[in-house]
Order: sequence, then C-alpha cells, then structure tokens
Amino acid sequence: MIGKCSSCFMIVDGVPNVKTCREPVREGLVVERQRGWVPPAGGVELGGVENRELEADLLVVGGGPAGLSAALKAAEYGLDVVIVDEHLRLGGQLLKQTHKFFGSVELFGGLRGFQIAEEYIRKLESNEKVKVLSQSAVYGVFRGGLVGVVGRGAHYAIRPKSVVGSPGASERYLDFVNNDLPGVIGAGGAQTIMNEFGVKPGERALVVGSGNVGLIVSYQLLQAGVRVEAIVEILPEIGGWFVHAAKVRRYGIPILTRHTLRAVYGNERVEEAEVVEVDERFNPIPGSEKRFEVDLVLLAVGLEPDFRLFAQCGAAMKWSPDLGGPVPLRTSDLETSVRNLYVAGDASGIEEATTAMIEGQIAALSTASKLTDGSRASRAIEEAEKLSKFLWDEYRASPLLARARRGKLSVTVSREEMERIRSLNPSPVSFG
Ligand SMILES: Cc1cc2nc3c(=O)[nH]c(=O)nc-3n(C[C@H](O)[C@H](O)[C@H](O)COP(=O)(O)OP(=O)(O)OC[C@H]3O[C@@H](n4cnc5c(N)ncnc54)[C@H](O)[C@@H]3O)c2cc1C
Repeated sequence: MIGKCSSCFMIVDGVPNVKTCREPVREGLVVERQRGWVPPAGGVELGGVENRELEADLLVVGGGPAGLSAALKAAEYGLDVVIVDEHLRLGGQLLKQTHKFFGSVELFGGLRGFQIAEEYIRKLESNEKVKVLSQSAVYGVFRGGLVGVVGRGAHYAIRPKSVVGSPGASERYLDFVNNDLPGVIGAGGAQTIMNEFGVKPGERALVVGSGNVGLIVSYQLLQAGVRVEAIVEILPEIGGWFVHAAKVRRYGIPILTRHTLRAVYGNERVEEAEVVEVDERFNPIPGSEKRFEVDLVLLAVGLEPDFRLFAQCGAAMKWSPDLGGPVPLRTSDLETSVRNLYVAGDASGIEEATTAMIEGQIAALSTASKLTDGSRASRAIEEAEKLSKFLWDEYRASPLLARARRGKLSVTVSREEMERIRSLNPSPVSFG
C-alpha cells in the first residue's frame, strides 16, 4: 500500500501488473485477479500511448519531502525542473502524517505532515519553472543519461542535466506462519488506508515493532477507532522516541518487549495472532505463547532505502546497518559517484522528514551552483554551506538522530576521494 511491491498487482481494464494500491476506483473499471504468468494483454489498445521527449535542468525522482524541497529550491534559482512521482498526488509519506512536526517555523514546526505537503504542492503547481508528472514512474536510466518515465497514457524520454533521486524507502516484512493472510499489512499501508483514504483498516490490531513508525501508527489507529491490543517488540527496549511511547502508554496499550509474533491464524483472513516471549538469544521460550483475537496485524519492523535507481546507474554503494541497508556513497553536497546524480531523503539512509527536506535543498543548491553563474552561483554555494552546517552541527546533534548521523558520516566522502572512486568505478551513465 505504499507503491513499493508487487503484492497488489492486478489486471485492470485488461492491463496486467497494475499496482492497485495506486489506482483510483472509477465508474466501469474492470479489475481481475492476477495469478502467475499473465498472457500479453489481448484486445487492449496500447497504441494510444503518446511518446514525449523532455529536457530539464533538474529531474527530481520522487515527490516526498526530499523531492518537493529540492524542486522548489531549484526553481527559486531559475532552473527548469521536472518532478516525477508514481503516486496520485505529490507528498510521499507526508500525505499520511497527521501529527505535528517539531522545531522552528522555517522547518514547518507546528504543521502536520499533510499540511506541509499541501503547502509545497500549492507552491510548485503555480510555479512556471516546474513541470509535475504525477502517476508517473521512472523505470530506468539509459546510456547517454536518458531517463525513461511511464505515465498515464504517455511515455516520456527525459534528458536532464542533473538528477535528484529521492524515491524514499520500502517497508521490511517478516517471516511467520500465514504471513500472507489478508489482514497482515505494513504499517505504512495502514497509514495510507486510514489517513489518506479515510478507511478504517480493521477493528482490533496487533502492532509488531516499537520504533517510531510502530508507535505513531498505533496512536493513529486509536484515533481512527481501532482497538490496539498490544505492541510487540523483540528487543529488550522500546526502539522509538520516549514522547511517542509515552503517548501510547497513556492510552493503556501494552508494549511487550522481548516478544515476537510467531503465527497468525484465520479462515480467509486474520482472526488470531500468536505471540511468544524470547530469551536473550531471541529463541522462543516454550510455554510463553499468548494469543490475541485480532483482525489486523501491522508490521512496523524497519525501512530499507530504495537504492535501485542508484544501483542501476552504477553508483558506488555501501551497506550501512545504521542507515537501514545499501545506500550510495556521496560527497557532503550529496552528489553520488555518478556525476550530477544526487541522493536525498530516506534513499540516502533512513532518517526523518525534516532532514529529508534539508537534504533535498542542499542537493538542489549544489546543482544550481553548477548550472547558474555570477552572483546566483555564489549565493547557492553560500546557502548550501549554511544549510549543511546547520544540518550536521545543530539538527543532527540531537541524541535522537545519533545513529543516522553516524551512518551518514560513514558514507560521506571528500570530493578528492569521490574522484578516486569515479576513476575506479566509471559509471555507464552520465548526466549534464
Ligand atoms: C511507511 C513509512 C511510514 C512513515 N511514517 C512516519 C511517521 O508516521 N512519522 C514520521 O515522522 N516519519 C515517518 N516516516 C519517515 C518519513 O516520512 C520519511 O523519513 C520521509 O518521508 C522521507 O522522505 P523522502 O522524500 O525521502 O521519501 P518519501 O516520503 O517516501 O517519498 C518518496 C516518493 O517517491 C516516489 N517514488 C518512488 N520511486 C519512484 C519512481 N521510480 N518513480 C517515481 N516516483 C517514485 C514515491 O511514490 C514517493 O511519493 C515514514 C516513512 C515510511 C516509509
């Protein structure tokens, strides 16, 4: 339900492999179940697809907080920007965030996530330097720096001078008995259903994972009228911030540390979940099983950066446990080993929305400093340095971001080191 997997593929109006979590229902839509190999779409009018070519100073892939802020900043400096997002509307995860952000007014402190998205969308849609392609996916990058995008009724071949890649992250899944029963979903999926589309995802829930996403979603479930039976956490301590844990505890939701989900049971859909206590080696303790009568099991067991765009371009990558998985190496202005390809937001390592917005701006400013000249270029460099200093020395100084800070430091290299990496790993694609 966040557009990252193939679990919801169906045949829609004869077209196979449609992600139905991103397809709005409309009158007369024919939706068929898809199983295994799907024969070529017989009778579907594919000739109606228009081929368009576009050029841009900056292509932004992904319209979450990182991409939105990159697009707006680049437009402020007079760059021609194309921003592409697979979803119905721009906003990324912000669209489902109903809680207020912390921090200063410049960092949208006091606003709710979806309100921040609305503000960005208003500014971008009225900006003549920005072209928005929603319900459009970047599916590949080709030699010569040509980017392929498939949208509604159109195929685009975009030739950008630079790219900010901000495709976000995907949710991790867990192995347990019956994990494919309807009613088992990712926490982000539940957020999409209730916060974006206004549908109650179930009546009684069990949440697996006590990181911030698990804690926040549990509170949002309560607000939507869903009873949360418990939050289960395999580690001995709660993973998320104290403020979020305190909130759910105030409402009487037990957080069972050193517990894990072993199985779910049900006829056609989830009816019961079995939880078990674990020892210090994470082995189940026999006889400690507990059963919960629930129709919803939410997995909030971590996020993994969406690294595919960067890996496909041949960017030098590094696996970082602190950042949730493989991420591209980058310079302090977020340029990867593929010249003029930048990374920002969760794709640069799992962190949070405010740092995603700051990273998006730094990447855009670095592009602006190369594509403009004179006083504009120097202003871009100055602004990028100021933001970077604030990000590293003030914002990330918070102990809450210590892990992400450590991870991001471990994948940031000097410009000289990046030149050395480039000479050792020449990329098959280039932009600019
Ligand atoms: C499931 C989930 C739930 C979260 N919940 C919370 C929360 O409750 N509170 C909180 O503070 N933080 C939460 N976060 C963290 C925070 O939202 C993220 O740190 C932040 O949104 C990252 O911003 P981003 O711009 O990098 O990515 P995202 O906001 O994820 O945006 C990425 C965008 O890229 C688009 N995209 C991806 N691939 C392509 C492609 N190939 N072509 C076109 N478009 C593409 C996607 O459609 C999406 O809109 C959550 C994160 C996730 C993944």
